[in-house]
Amino acid sequence: MIALDECVSPHVAMAQRDHIQLDWRVPYRTLERVRPMAWTCVCRATVYELCQGGGQAFIRRTVQLDGTPEVRETPRWPVNEARVIWAALLSGKAR
Ligand SMILES: [Zn+2]
Repeated sequence: MIALDECVSPHVAMAQRDHIQLDWRVPYRTLERVRPMAWTCVCRATVYELCQGGGQAFIRRTVQLDGTPEVRETPRWPVNEARVIWAALLSGKAR
């Protein structure tokens, strides 16, 4: 197994068979400022970001497809709840 020194961000684990299905929606324009709090490694075609804005948080999923990234976002949650879901996503309990 080769250690990839460039990978400093986490990779998502394979989704478990009974994982929670997140509601991935086409993003809508918002006026609030959104900033990423955490993100997965960009070495994968699918990158997830935990984003915070306006006192709430959500997960953004970007799939790199032939140069045109497909972006989807979950509904907004309270920040603490979003952190729990983010951890579940990383460990394969949610996707
Ligand atoms: Zn990586």
